[in-house]
Amino acid sequence: MDLDNLRKEIEEVTTEIFQLVGKRFALAQKVAQSKMKKGLPVEDVDAERKLKEIISKKCKAYGVDLDFGLRLLNLLIEESKNIQKDIIRKTEEKASFSTPYEVFAEAKKLERTGRRLIRLDVGEPDFGPPEDVKEAVAEALKSGYAHYTETAGIPKLREKIASVNNELYHVNISPEQVIVTPGGRYAVYLGMASILSPGEEAIILEPAWPAYKDCVRAVQAKAVMVPSRLEDGWEPDLDALVERVNRLTKLIILNSPNNPTGKILGGDVLRHVVEIANEKGIYIMSDEVYANFAFKPFKSILEFQDCKFVFVDSFSKTFGMTGFRIGYTISDAETIKRMVKIQNLCLTSVPEFVQYAAIKALNCREEAKKYAKTVEERIGFLCDALNKIPVSYYKPDGGFYVFPKLRDERIDTQTFVKRLLTEKGVCVTPGTAFGEEYTSFFRITACQPKNALLEAVEKMGDLLK
Ligand code: PMP
Repeated sequence: MDLDNLRKEIEEVTTEIFQLVGKRFALAQKVAQSKMKKGLPVEDVDAERKLKEIISKKCKAYGVDLDFGLRLLNLLIEESKNIQKDIIRKTEEKASFSTPYEVFAEAKKLERTGRRLIRLDVGEPDFGPPEDVKEAVAEALKSGYAHYTETAGIPKLREKIASVNNELYHVNISPEQVIVTPGGRYAVYLGMASILSPGEEAIILEPAWPAYKDCVRAVQAKAVMVPSRLEDGWEPDLDALVERVNRLTKLIILNSPNNPTGKILGGDVLRHVVEIANEKGIYIMSDEVYANFAFKPFKSILEFQDCKFVFVDSFSKTFGMTGFRIGYTISDAETIKRMVKIQNLCLTSVPEFVQYAAIKALNCREEAKKYAKTVEERIGFLCDALNKIPVSYYKPDGGFYVFPKLRDERIDTQTFVKRLLTEKGVCVTPGTAFGEEYTSFFRITACQPKNALLEAVEKMGDLLK
Protein backbone atom coordinates (compact mmCIF):
# COMPACT_ATOMS: atom_id res chain seq x y z
CA MET A 1 0.00 0.00 0.00
CA ASP A 2 1.38 3.43 -0.79
CA LEU A 3 1.77 6.22 1.77
CA ASP A 4 -1.30 8.15 0.59
CA ASN A 5 -3.54 5.16 1.10
CA LEU A 6 -2.01 4.44 4.49
CA ARG A 7 -2.64 8.05 5.53
CA LYS A 8 -6.23 7.77 4.37
CA GLU A 9 -6.71 4.65 6.42
CA ILE A 10 -5.15 6.32 9.48
CA GLU A 11 -7.59 9.23 9.05
CA GLU A 12 -10.52 6.83 8.94
CA VAL A 13 -9.38 4.83 11.96
CA THR A 14 -8.69 8.00 13.98
CA THR A 15 -12.11 9.38 13.04
CA GLU A 16 -13.71 6.15 14.22
CA ILE A 17 -11.83 6.35 17.53
CA PHE A 18 -13.18 9.87 18.09
CA GLN A 19 -16.72 8.84 17.16
CA LEU A 20 -16.46 6.18 19.85
CA VAL A 21 -15.00 8.67 22.37
CA GLY A 22 -18.03 10.91 21.70
CA LYS A 23 -20.34 7.96 22.25
CA ARG A 24 -18.53 7.11 25.50
CA PHE A 25 -18.94 10.67 26.82
CA ALA A 26 -22.66 10.69 25.90
CA LEU A 27 -23.00 7.47 27.92
CA ALA A 28 -21.19 9.11 30.84
CA GLN A 29 -23.94 11.78 30.87
CA LYS A 30 -26.60 9.08 31.13
CA VAL A 31 -24.62 7.35 33.89
CA ALA A 32 -24.63 10.66 35.80
CA GLN A 33 -28.45 10.90 35.57
CA SER A 34 -28.81 7.32 36.71
CA LYS A 35 -26.39 7.73 39.64
CA MET A 36 -28.21 10.89 40.73
CA LYS A 37 -31.56 9.09 40.72
CA LYS A 38 -30.14 6.27 42.81
CA GLY A 39 -28.18 8.63 45.06
CA LEU A 40 -24.88 6.91 44.15
CA PRO A 41 -21.47 8.63 44.20
CA VAL A 42 -19.52 9.32 41.00
CA GLU A 43 -16.57 7.22 42.19
CA ASP A 44 -17.10 3.48 41.63
CA VAL A 45 -13.92 1.55 42.34
CA ASP A 46 -15.39 -1.86 41.45
CA ALA A 47 -16.68 -0.70 38.06
CA GLU A 48 -13.25 0.76 37.29
CA ARG A 49 -11.48 -2.40 38.36
CA LYS A 50 -13.74 -4.54 36.14
CA LEU A 51 -13.13 -2.29 33.14
CA LYS A 52 -9.37 -2.43 33.74
CA GLU A 53 -9.45 -6.22 33.76
CA ILE A 54 -11.39 -6.32 30.48
CA ILE A 55 -9.10 -3.81 28.79
CA SER A 56 -5.93 -5.54 30.03
CA LYS A 57 -7.06 -8.70 28.22
CA LYS A 58 -8.07 -6.76 25.11
CA CYS A 59 -4.72 -4.95 24.98
CA LYS A 60 -3.03 -8.33 24.64
CA ALA A 61 -5.47 -9.51 22.00
CA TYR A 62 -5.19 -6.26 19.97
CA GLY A 63 -1.40 -5.93 20.30
CA VAL A 64 -1.63 -2.69 22.32
CA ASP A 65 1.15 -2.01 24.84
CA LEU A 66 -0.40 -2.68 28.26
CA ASP A 67 0.97 0.42 30.02
CA PHE A 68 -0.16 2.67 27.19
CA GLY A 69 -3.59 0.99 27.09
CA LEU A 70 -4.15 1.37 30.82
CA ARG A 71 -2.98 5.00 30.84
CA LEU A 72 -5.37 5.79 27.98
CA LEU A 73 -8.16 4.05 29.85
CA ASN A 74 -7.42 6.15 32.95
CA LEU A 75 -7.67 9.33 30.87
CA LEU A 76 -11.06 8.22 29.51
CA ILE A 77 -12.32 7.26 32.97
CA GLU A 78 -11.17 10.55 34.53
CA GLU A 79 -12.84 12.56 31.75
CA SER A 80 -16.08 10.60 32.19
CA LYS A 81 -15.99 11.31 35.91
CA ASN A 82 -15.48 15.02 35.22
CA ILE A 83 -18.53 14.98 32.93
CA GLN A 84 -20.57 13.26 35.63
CA LYS A 85 -19.40 15.62 38.38
CA ASP A 86 -20.21 18.62 36.20
CA ILE A 87 -23.76 17.46 35.57
CA ILE A 88 -24.35 16.65 39.22
CA ARG A 89 -22.91 20.01 40.32
CA LYS A 90 -25.15 21.92 37.88
CA THR A 91 -28.28 19.97 38.81
CA GLU A 92 -27.99 20.04 42.58
CA GLU A 93 -29.17 23.20 44.18
CA LYS A 94 -26.21 25.03 45.62
CA ALA A 95 -27.18 25.64 49.23
CA SER A 96 -23.76 25.19 50.78
CA PHE A 97 -20.00 25.28 50.24
CA SER A 98 -18.17 22.49 48.49
CA THR A 99 -14.62 23.83 48.29
CA PRO A 100 -12.42 25.68 50.79
CA TYR A 101 -12.11 28.47 48.27
CA GLU A 102 -15.87 29.09 48.40
CA VAL A 103 -15.68 29.46 52.19
CA PHE A 104 -12.71 31.80 51.81
CA ALA A 105 -14.50 33.91 49.16
CA GLU A 106 -17.67 34.19 51.26
CA ALA A 107 -15.63 35.16 54.35
CA LYS A 108 -13.81 37.85 52.37
CA LYS A 109 -17.14 39.16 51.08
CA LEU A 110 -18.55 39.41 54.61
CA GLU A 111 -15.37 41.09 55.87
CA ARG A 112 -15.66 43.72 53.15
CA THR A 113 -19.09 44.66 54.53
CA GLY A 114 -17.35 45.44 57.83
CA ARG A 115 -18.38 42.25 59.63
CA ARG A 116 -15.91 40.97 62.22
CA LEU A 117 -15.17 37.28 61.71
CA ILE A 118 -13.10 34.74 63.62
CA ARG A 119 -10.98 33.21 60.89
CA LEU A 120 -10.15 29.61 61.72
CA ASP A 121 -10.08 28.47 58.10
CA VAL A 122 -6.69 29.42 56.66
CA GLY A 123 -3.55 27.61 57.83
CA GLU A 124 -1.60 30.81 58.26
CA PRO A 125 0.21 31.48 61.54
CA ASP A 126 -0.45 34.86 63.16
CA PHE A 127 3.13 35.19 64.48
CA GLY A 128 4.90 36.38 61.29
CA PRO A 129 8.64 36.00 60.64
CA PRO A 130 11.37 36.40 63.30
CA GLU A 131 12.85 39.92 63.64
CA ASP A 132 16.22 38.68 62.32
CA VAL A 133 14.53 37.53 59.11
CA LYS A 134 12.88 40.93 58.57
CA GLU A 135 16.26 42.59 59.02
CA ALA A 136 17.89 40.09 56.67
CA VAL A 137 15.42 41.08 53.92
CA ALA A 138 16.30 44.77 54.32
CA GLU A 139 20.03 44.01 54.38
CA ALA A 140 19.83 41.74 51.35
CA LEU A 141 18.06 44.47 49.38
CA LYS A 142 20.60 47.09 50.48
CA SER A 143 23.37 44.75 49.34
CA GLY A 144 21.77 44.58 45.90
CA TYR A 145 20.52 40.99 46.12
CA ALA A 146 17.62 41.65 43.79
CA HIS A 147 18.54 39.52 40.79
CA TYR A 148 17.76 36.22 39.14
CA THR A 149 19.62 33.33 40.73
CA GLU A 150 20.42 29.72 39.84
CA THR A 151 17.07 28.02 39.24
CA ALA A 152 17.71 25.40 41.95
CA GLY A 153 18.52 28.14 44.47
CA ILE A 154 21.68 29.95 45.55
CA PRO A 155 24.43 27.47 46.55
CA LYS A 156 24.69 28.88 50.10
CA LEU A 157 21.01 28.18 50.77
CA ARG A 158 21.09 24.69 49.22
CA GLU A 159 24.14 23.88 51.36
CA LYS A 160 22.45 25.22 54.47
CA ILE A 161 19.25 23.24 53.80
CA ALA A 162 21.28 20.05 53.30
CA SER A 163 23.33 20.59 56.46
CA VAL A 164 20.30 21.48 58.65
CA ASN A 165 18.50 18.29 57.60
CA ASN A 166 21.66 16.19 57.89
CA GLU A 167 22.04 17.34 61.46
CA LEU A 168 18.36 16.91 62.29
CA TYR A 169 17.91 13.41 60.84
CA HIS A 170 21.50 12.07 60.90
CA VAL A 171 21.62 11.61 57.13
CA ASN A 172 23.95 12.60 54.34
CA ILE A 173 22.04 14.78 51.88
CA SER A 174 24.14 16.70 49.34
CA PRO A 175 23.23 20.22 48.07
CA GLU A 176 22.63 18.71 44.58
CA GLN A 177 19.67 16.90 46.10
CA VAL A 178 17.96 20.20 46.99
CA ILE A 179 15.80 22.58 44.94
CA VAL A 180 14.51 25.83 46.46
CA THR A 181 10.93 26.51 45.33
CA PRO A 182 8.37 29.32 45.75
CA GLY A 183 6.59 27.61 48.66
CA GLY A 184 5.79 24.03 49.59
CA ARG A 185 2.77 24.08 47.31
CA TYR A 186 4.92 24.53 44.23
CA ALA A 187 7.34 21.90 45.55
CA VAL A 188 4.41 19.45 45.63
CA TYR A 189 3.47 20.37 42.06
CA LEU A 190 7.07 20.03 40.83
CA GLY A 191 7.38 16.60 42.43
CA MET A 192 4.24 15.42 40.68
CA ALA A 193 5.08 17.02 37.34
CA SER A 194 8.50 15.39 37.30
CA ILE A 195 7.35 11.91 38.31
CA LEU A 196 3.88 11.39 36.84
CA SER A 197 2.98 10.99 33.16
CA PRO A 198 -0.60 11.41 31.88
CA GLY A 199 -2.76 8.46 32.86
CA GLU A 200 -0.39 7.22 35.58
CA GLU A 201 -1.56 6.94 39.18
CA ALA A 202 -0.74 8.54 42.53
CA ILE A 203 -2.11 7.22 45.82
CA ILE A 204 -3.31 9.76 48.37
CA LEU A 205 -4.06 8.81 51.96
CA GLU A 206 -7.19 10.68 53.03
CA PRO A 207 -8.15 12.91 54.72
CA ALA A 208 -5.66 15.01 52.78
CA TRP A 209 -4.76 18.58 51.88
CA PRO A 210 -6.82 19.15 48.68
CA ALA A 211 -3.83 20.44 46.67
CA TYR A 212 -2.48 16.88 46.30
CA LYS A 213 -5.36 15.65 44.19
CA ASP A 214 -5.59 18.97 42.34
CA CYS A 215 -1.88 18.78 41.41
CA VAL A 216 -2.14 15.12 40.38
CA ARG A 217 -5.05 16.03 38.11
CA ALA A 218 -3.25 19.10 36.77
CA VAL A 219 -0.56 16.83 35.33
CA GLN A 220 -3.28 14.60 33.79
CA ALA A 221 -2.61 11.75 36.19
CA LYS A 222 -5.14 9.85 38.27
CA ALA A 223 -5.57 10.44 42.00
CA VAL A 224 -6.39 7.19 43.82
CA MET A 225 -7.77 7.78 47.30
CA VAL A 226 -7.23 5.50 50.29
CA PRO A 227 -9.37 6.83 53.17
CA SER A 228 -8.68 6.39 56.89
CA ARG A 229 -11.08 6.74 59.81
CA LEU A 230 -11.30 8.65 63.07
CA GLU A 231 -12.41 5.38 64.75
CA ASP A 232 -9.01 3.86 63.81
CA GLY A 233 -7.12 6.86 65.21
CA TRP A 234 -6.48 7.96 61.60
CA GLU A 235 -4.06 5.04 61.09
CA PRO A 236 -3.68 4.47 57.35
CA ASP A 237 -5.34 1.35 55.96
CA LEU A 238 -2.24 -0.37 54.58
CA ASP A 239 -4.19 -3.38 53.23
CA ALA A 240 -6.35 -1.00 51.18
CA LEU A 241 -3.16 0.76 50.06
CA VAL A 242 -1.64 -2.51 48.81
CA GLU A 243 -4.89 -3.34 47.04
CA ARG A 244 -4.86 -0.05 45.11
CA VAL A 245 -1.24 -0.42 43.92
CA ASN A 246 -0.91 -1.53 40.29
CA ARG A 247 1.54 -1.23 37.40
CA LEU A 248 0.54 2.41 36.78
CA THR A 249 1.14 3.50 40.40
CA LYS A 250 4.16 5.81 40.42
CA LEU A 251 3.70 7.83 43.60
CA ILE A 252 2.39 7.46 47.16
CA ILE A 253 1.78 10.76 48.97
CA LEU A 254 2.25 11.04 52.73
CA ASN A 255 1.72 14.05 54.97
CA SER A 256 2.89 13.91 58.57
CA PRO A 257 1.96 15.69 60.82
CA ASN A 258 -1.21 15.63 58.78
CA ASN A 259 -3.37 18.48 57.56
CA PRO A 260 -6.23 18.21 58.67
CA THR A 261 -6.08 15.38 61.27
CA GLY A 262 -2.84 16.16 63.15
CA LYS A 263 -1.81 12.49 62.86
CA ILE A 264 1.90 11.65 62.92
CA LEU A 265 2.80 8.44 61.06
CA GLY A 266 4.78 6.05 63.22
CA GLY A 267 8.15 4.62 62.17
CA ASP A 268 6.62 1.15 61.69
CA VAL A 269 3.94 2.55 59.34
CA LEU A 270 6.58 4.47 57.34
CA ARG A 271 8.74 1.32 57.10
CA HIS A 272 5.74 -0.64 55.83
CA VAL A 273 4.90 1.99 53.20
CA VAL A 274 8.56 2.08 52.14
CA GLU A 275 8.50 -1.71 51.67
CA ILE A 276 5.31 -1.54 49.58
CA ALA A 277 6.82 1.26 47.46
CA ASN A 278 10.20 -0.44 47.04
CA GLU A 279 8.66 -3.66 45.85
CA LYS A 280 7.19 -1.83 42.84
CA GLY A 281 9.74 0.96 42.38
CA ILE A 282 7.23 3.63 43.48
CA TYR A 283 8.23 7.11 44.70
CA ILE A 284 7.07 8.36 48.10
CA MET A 285 6.30 12.05 48.39
CA SER A 286 6.49 13.01 52.05
CA ASP A 287 5.11 16.45 52.85
CA GLU A 288 6.63 17.42 56.21
CA VAL A 289 5.86 21.13 56.30
CA TYR A 290 4.41 20.74 59.83
CA ALA A 291 7.37 18.75 61.24
CA ASN A 292 8.41 21.68 63.45
CA PHE A 293 5.00 21.38 65.10
CA ALA A 294 5.34 17.71 66.15
CA PHE A 295 4.18 17.32 69.77
CA LYS A 296 5.20 13.64 69.81
CA PRO A 297 8.22 11.70 68.47
CA PHE A 298 8.44 12.25 64.74
CA LYS A 299 10.12 10.29 61.96
CA SER A 300 11.03 11.76 58.59
CA ILE A 301 11.13 9.94 55.26
CA LEU A 302 14.72 11.20 55.08
CA GLU A 303 15.58 8.56 57.67
CA PHE A 304 14.64 5.88 55.11
CA GLN A 305 17.40 6.39 52.59
CA ASP A 306 16.71 3.04 50.92
CA CYS A 307 13.65 4.32 49.00
CA LYS A 308 12.85 6.73 46.16
CA PHE A 309 11.56 9.82 47.95
CA VAL A 310 10.52 13.42 47.38
CA PHE A 311 10.70 15.27 50.68
CA VAL A 312 8.76 18.56 50.85
CA ASP A 313 9.38 21.32 53.38
CA SER A 314 8.54 25.01 53.61
CA PHE A 315 9.52 28.16 55.50
CA SER A 316 5.84 29.20 55.65
CA LYS A 317 4.77 27.43 58.80
CA THR A 318 8.04 26.79 60.68
CA PHE A 319 9.14 30.44 60.54
CA GLY A 320 5.80 32.22 59.95
CA MET A 321 6.93 33.17 56.42
CA THR A 322 3.82 32.38 54.33
CA GLY A 323 4.08 35.60 52.30
CA PHE A 324 7.75 35.06 51.44
CA ARG A 325 6.75 32.13 49.22
CA ILE A 326 9.70 29.88 49.81
CA GLY A 327 10.02 26.14 50.37
CA TYR A 328 12.15 23.29 49.09
CA THR A 329 12.34 19.70 48.02
CA ILE A 330 14.97 17.03 48.67
CA SER A 331 15.14 14.05 46.33
CA ASP A 332 17.68 12.11 44.27
CA ALA A 333 19.86 14.35 42.08
CA GLU A 334 18.24 13.09 38.83
CA THR A 335 14.71 13.94 39.98
CA ILE A 336 15.94 17.33 41.18
CA LYS A 337 17.33 17.98 37.67
CA ARG A 338 13.90 17.26 36.16
CA MET A 339 12.31 19.65 38.67
CA VAL A 340 14.89 22.32 37.85
CA LYS A 341 13.93 22.11 34.17
CA ILE A 342 10.24 22.70 34.93
CA GLN A 343 10.95 25.46 37.46
CA ASN A 344 13.29 27.14 34.98
CA LEU A 345 10.67 27.32 32.27
CA CYS A 346 7.99 28.58 34.68
CA LEU A 347 9.68 31.11 36.91
CA THR A 348 13.51 31.20 36.60
CA SER A 349 14.15 31.32 40.36
CA VAL A 350 12.86 32.31 43.78
CA PRO A 351 13.66 36.04 44.42
CA GLU A 352 17.27 36.46 45.53
CA PHE A 353 16.60 38.52 48.70
CA VAL A 354 13.97 36.00 49.81
CA GLN A 355 16.59 33.25 49.58
CA TYR A 356 18.99 35.30 51.73
CA ALA A 357 16.22 35.78 54.28
CA ALA A 358 15.67 32.00 54.26
CA ILE A 359 19.34 31.39 55.13
CA LYS A 360 18.86 33.65 58.13
CA ALA A 361 15.60 31.87 59.06
CA LEU A 362 17.39 28.51 59.26
CA ASN A 363 19.45 29.99 62.10
CA CYS A 364 16.33 31.13 64.00
CA ARG A 365 15.81 27.84 65.80
CA GLU A 366 14.79 29.38 69.11
CA GLU A 367 11.96 31.35 67.46
CA ALA A 368 10.80 28.22 65.60
CA LYS A 369 10.69 26.37 68.93
CA LYS A 370 8.73 29.21 70.48
CA TYR A 371 6.21 29.13 67.61
CA ALA A 372 5.83 25.38 68.08
CA LYS A 373 5.19 25.84 71.81
CA THR A 374 2.53 28.49 71.11
CA VAL A 375 0.73 26.24 68.63
CA GLU A 376 0.89 23.21 70.94
CA GLU A 377 -0.64 25.25 73.78
CA ARG A 378 -3.39 26.52 71.50
CA ILE A 379 -4.18 23.03 70.24
CA GLY A 380 -4.40 21.77 73.84
CA PHE A 381 -6.65 24.68 74.78
CA LEU A 382 -8.83 24.17 71.70
CA CYS A 383 -9.24 20.47 72.49
CA ASP A 384 -10.29 21.26 76.08
CA ALA A 385 -12.93 23.66 74.75
CA LEU A 386 -14.16 21.09 72.19
CA ASN A 387 -14.73 18.58 75.02
CA LYS A 388 -17.72 20.73 76.07
CA ILE A 389 -19.60 20.53 72.76
CA PRO A 390 -21.10 17.50 70.92
CA VAL A 391 -18.15 16.58 68.68
CA SER A 392 -15.58 13.75 68.65
CA TYR A 393 -11.98 14.25 67.60
CA TYR A 394 -8.47 12.80 67.60
CA LYS A 395 -6.14 14.84 69.78
CA PRO A 396 -3.48 15.97 67.30
CA ASP A 397 0.08 14.61 67.51
CA GLY A 398 1.22 17.76 65.71
CA GLY A 399 0.35 20.43 63.12
CA PHE A 400 -1.98 23.42 63.16
CA TYR A 401 -5.38 21.76 63.05
CA VAL A 402 -8.11 19.82 64.82
CA PHE A 403 -10.54 17.82 62.66
CA PRO A 404 -13.69 17.21 64.76
CA LYS A 405 -16.68 15.10 63.81
CA LEU A 406 -20.21 16.29 64.50
CA ARG A 407 -21.79 13.68 66.78
CA ASP A 408 -25.18 14.25 65.21
CA GLU A 409 -24.46 12.75 61.79
CA ARG A 410 -27.68 14.16 60.37
CA ILE A 411 -26.09 17.62 60.24
CA ASP A 412 -23.91 17.77 57.15
CA THR A 413 -20.66 19.67 57.30
CA GLN A 414 -21.33 22.06 54.43
CA THR A 415 -24.57 23.34 55.96
CA PHE A 416 -22.94 23.53 59.41
CA VAL A 417 -19.97 25.51 58.07
CA LYS A 418 -22.21 27.89 56.15
CA ARG A 419 -24.46 28.54 59.15
CA LEU A 420 -21.45 28.94 61.46
CA LEU A 421 -20.10 31.61 59.14
CA THR A 422 -23.24 33.53 58.30
CA GLU A 423 -25.05 33.28 61.67
CA LYS A 424 -22.09 33.23 64.07
CA GLY A 425 -19.24 34.86 62.18
CA VAL A 426 -16.88 31.91 62.66
CA CYS A 427 -15.07 30.58 59.64
CA VAL A 428 -13.86 26.93 59.48
CA THR A 429 -13.36 24.50 56.56
CA PRO A 430 -15.85 21.72 55.64
CA GLY A 431 -14.55 18.14 56.01
CA THR A 432 -15.48 17.29 52.42
CA ALA A 433 -12.60 19.52 51.27
CA PHE A 434 -10.28 16.78 52.56
CA GLY A 435 -12.12 13.77 51.14
CA GLU A 436 -15.63 13.14 49.88
CA GLU A 437 -16.58 10.87 52.74
CA TYR A 438 -15.85 13.32 55.57
CA THR A 439 -19.38 14.73 55.46
CA SER A 440 -19.64 15.06 59.26
CA PHE A 441 -16.23 16.64 59.86
CA PHE A 442 -14.86 20.17 59.83
CA ARG A 443 -11.36 21.58 60.25
CA ILE A 444 -10.38 24.20 62.80
CA THR A 445 -7.06 26.03 62.52
CA ALA A 446 -5.39 26.89 65.83
CA CYS A 447 -3.62 29.94 64.44
CA GLN A 448 -5.46 32.52 66.56
CA PRO A 449 -5.09 33.61 70.19
CA LYS A 450 -6.83 31.56 72.88
CA ASN A 451 -9.70 33.99 73.50
CA ALA A 452 -10.67 33.84 69.80
CA LEU A 453 -10.57 30.02 69.89
CA LEU A 454 -12.74 29.93 73.02
CA GLU A 455 -15.29 32.37 71.58
CA ALA A 456 -15.43 30.36 68.35
CA VAL A 457 -16.02 27.03 70.10
CA GLU A 458 -18.76 28.58 72.29
CA LYS A 459 -20.50 29.73 69.11
CA MET A 460 -20.21 26.24 67.62
CA GLY A 461 -21.78 24.91 70.82
CA ASP A 462 -24.70 27.40 70.48
CA LEU A 463 -25.37 26.20 66.96
CA LEU A 464 -25.27 22.53 67.98
CA LYS A 465 -27.63 22.89 70.97
N1 PMP B 1 1.60 21.16 52.60
C1 PMP B 1 0.56 21.22 53.43
C2 PMP B 1 0.07 19.98 54.07
C3 PMP B 1 -0.07 22.45 53.69
O1 PMP B 1 -1.12 22.50 54.52
C4 PMP B 1 0.43 23.61 53.05
C5 PMP B 1 -0.24 24.97 53.25
N2 PMP B 1 -1.52 25.00 53.62
C6 PMP B 1 1.54 23.48 52.21
C7 PMP B 1 2.10 22.24 52.00
C8 PMP B 1 2.13 24.62 51.43
O2 PMP B 1 2.45 25.75 52.08
P1 PMP B 1 3.35 26.86 51.37
O3 PMP B 1 3.08 26.80 49.90
O4 PMP B 1 2.95 28.14 51.98
O5 PMP B 1 4.76 26.46 51.66
